[in-house]
Amino acid sequence: MSKINLLGFTLEQLKSEFLKTGLTDLDAKRVFPWIHVKLAQSFNSMSDVPLNVRDFLQSNYSIDRPECSTVQKSSDETQKALLKLEDGNCIETVLIPEAKRTTVCVSSQIGCPIGCKFCYTGTQKFVRNLTSSEIISQIFFWKDRFEKPITNIVFMGMGEPLLNFENLSNTIELLLDEKAHNFSRHKITVSTSGVIENEIINLARWGIKLAISLHASNDEKRSYLMPINKKYDIKTLLTAAKKYQKISRTDHITFEYLLLKDINDTDSDASELIKLLKFIRCKVNLITFNSWLGSQFIGSDGNRVQNFLSTLLSSGIRAIVRKSRGNDILAACGQLKGRSSR
Ligand code: SF4
Repeated sequence: MSKINLLGFTLEQLKSEFLKTGLTDLDAKRVFPWIHVKLAQSFNSMSDVPLNVRDFLQSNYSIDRPECSTVQKSSDETQKALLKLEDGNCIETVLIPEAKRTTVCVSSQIGCPIGCKFCYTGTQKFVRNLTSSEIISQIFFWKDRFEKPITNIVFMGMGEPLLNFENLSNTIELLLDEKAHNFSRHKITVSTSGVIENEIINLARWGIKLAISLHASNDEKRSYLMPINKKYDIKTLLTAAKKYQKISRTDHITFEYLLLKDINDTDSDASELIKLLKFIRCKVNLITFNSWLGSQFIGSDGNRVQNFLSTLLSSGIRAIVRKSRGNDILAACGQLKGRSSR
């Protein structure tokens, strides 16, 4: 039987897990910082934990990171790792170093059931949600091997994070916990395709940043690009976004807008977008399309991108063209694709 991996356990969860086995709260309090602050890779190295407890942990639990199949490095220093999970499935995670910060892009599912037409990950069969340990292990993986501190986390890898809400929440709790990874809430972003239910609202209690993949300014185009829009249309999505903003007290919501040639990049698309967003404190990230083999779309040309940007800016909407990273190793937005064994 495989051992239970403890990387994704919050302190309270660790205490109740230990209680079941006869270990104490004090044992949990001693082990927890070894895992999350000192990044111990074996129970044996936990020098203030009694030897018999270490032996017990060694026999019954693990703090192993996933096996690394490959790491590719882009010409712009972005790195993409293919990690092999215990069941043989693979996921991808990306490290994006910049002058003043280093961001890790985390996957939350194997494959993705949402099936956005422009997304490479969406072409991969959905297999399952990642466990909390598998999600946070991606951050451990980069912390173990990258010499500079990881400053930002974005849940923008494979999968729709809000469809794996419980494990996402667990991971966020560990990232924000000052006795664990101690990230500021301003440094964590969850990106969603707009899965509403109660999840967007429930997420707000963490006060972290929310990015919404909008990609179109009317329901007809959005439903074509993102079938999830047939269930949760733009009006419903924006209502949820406003509620999120109110509860989370975040400064702004980010809307991601992928510019696709002759699909959603015209002047009238820009005008519709302005009408939609003028009542919400937001920032628009315009994204240039990262092509992949078999994709049916072409990215908008440079002039179109600039026109779209200027139209938004002149209407008073905050907007930027997001710099694409790791294109040459398929590490950019919407390009991740692990391997599923089923
Ligand atoms: S864009 Fe996100 S939600 Fe859509 S298919 Fe890709 S991974 Fe899934």
